[in-house]
Amino acid sequence: MTQMNFTDKSKKTLRVALVANGKYQSKRVWHKLFQALRDEDKFYLTKHHPDVVISIGGDGMLLSAFHMYEKELETVRFVGIHTGHLGFYTDYLDSEVDKLIADLREDKGETISYPILRVTMTLSDGRKVKARALNEATIKRIEKTMVADIKVNGGLFERFRGDGLSVATPTGSTAYNKSLGGAILHPTIQAMQMTEIASLNNRVFRTLGSPIIVPRGEKIEVVPKRLGQYLVTVDNKTYRHKDIAKIEFDIDRKKIQFINSANHTGFWERVRDAFIGESEE
Ligand code: NAP
Ligand code: MN
Repeated sequence: MTQMNFTDKSKKTLRVALVANGKYQSKRVWHKLFQALRDEDKFYLTKHHPDVVISIGGDGMLLSAFHMYEKELETVRFVGIHTGHLGFYTDYLDSEVDKLIADLREDKGETISYPILRVTMTLSDGRKVKARALNEATIKRIEKTMVADIKVNGGLFERFRGDGLSVATPTGSTAYNKSLGGAILHPTIQAMQMTEIASLNNRVFRTLGSPIIVPRGEKIEVVPKRLGQYLVTVDNKTYRHKDIAKIEFDIDRKKIQFINSANHTGFWERVRDAFIGESEE
């Protein structure tokens, strides 16, 4: 007896959203993909509730794509085409558009997922503001030294004085976190990393000084001790808030899912390509 197999994902129509940055090369790739996918039954191009989001640009563009669809993380898978220098979140070169289309035709729904950060800010009037970060979130005081108590799982860890703090995801560890002297974490590690931004350290004031890596299920809390304006960044977005009561960080229940193609190069290979390059014998 023959039976149609409706669970075979390779037969299912894929709803695809294309997002690109303003670069000329990105627009060219967008047009090429648009024309190729439009004419195939397998694909349905739409911005609404896509199964796959193709981000064309760099890591910055993928960060934007993530925030466009951050409310649909359970159903959306991302894939990046990079039209700039080597990207961490981008698997295909702009010369590999045909390869991406071929891989999507054969798509079996395979994914690779990475942890993201949950940020919960409580303002002094009690209002809560929530956000998710793919790379990191930072808090800085706009004027004067930031003074803040840092709590881990509710207990006081240290009193911090300095410019600010950053809490990064494993995939964000190669971004701002790296510039702050943080360690690079393999993205399968379910943890977040807090690094200091120019802490004050002398005989009177003392912080740990080194980054800390905190596992999923644990919580970091930053309680500012001075009134004033604070700058909070979440990936590529910046918010100004007056009088923040506290800001909490933990690993989100949800994860970001990427298409797991053969093009998904190993993480350490990307780190090496991005920061070390070719070695001379
Ligand atoms: P941007 O200023 O254009 O990006 C800064 C650089 O970081 C770009 O080269 C970007 O790559 C790269 N980048 C982004 N995510 C990365 C990752 N996970 N691993 C390695 N490199 C990464 O701004 P943007 O493109 O909107 O990116 C926002 C990010 O910039 C923030 O999340 C933060 O991590 C980073 N940043 C870094 C510093 C610093 O290092 N001092 C300061 C502020 C912000 P593309 O060119 O491919 O976009
Ligand atoms: Mn960028």
